[in-house]
Amino acid sequence: MKLTRLRIVGFKSFVDPSEIHIEPGLTGIVGPNGCGKSNLVEAVRWVMGESSHKSMRASGMDDVIFSGSANRPARNSAEVSLVIDNSERRAPAQFNDTDVLEVTRRIEREAGSAYKINSRDTRARDVQLLFADASTGAHSPAMVRQGQIGELISAKPRDRRRILEEAAGIAGLHSRRHEAELR
Ligand code: ATP
Ligand code: MG
Repeated sequence: MKLTRLRIVGFKSFVDPSEIHIEPGLTGIVGPNGCGKSNLVEAVRWVMGESSHKSMRASGMDDVIFSGSANRPARNSAEVSLVIDNSERRAPAQFNDTDVLEVTRRIEREAGSAYKINSRDTRARDVQLLFADASTGAHSPAMVRQGQIGELISAKPRDRRRILEEAAGIAGLHSRRHEAELR
């Protein structure tokens, strides 16, 4: 599964609708300090189902919504969509009927988040599993946060194994087994 486009509106500093095309090959994002480079990477993690506001550098999840500036009022919602090339049909069965998947997360102030895949309402869990199966997602080693290399080196064996399992693409299976055992 390839990420091909990112659409953002109202998320952190991206108050106006913005669309980024991710072309094949290496993509670099450059710009002065504070222009929103890290916010972009956080938008990707957020739409993949990140549930920790702390890892979004926010004191509550509503803080990812544009909070206003000297000449713009705050917004009451934020939305991020990630367009995925699924032409190799790697998505879980229930989403695997199209070549293109569009995953959307929307948050309304004081009302929490809702997810859609190709305009259909979807549970957060299904979005998280979709990316976990593809060895990516908010907690996967495909997204390297600042300081994470140091954490890996000093991690306890059990935590390091979890990281390796994510990389091997079996994190989704473990998570499903855990859910089945709880039933
Ligand atoms: P650096 O090069 O220093 O790492 P950066 O390009 O990664 O900078 P970010 O950290 O992505 O920059 O962006 C920081 C900017 O985003 C700050 O100006 C901050 O005020 C703004 N910002 C963060 N959250 C919000 C929000 N909810 N509403 C409006 N602006 C926000
Ligand atoms: Mg940054």
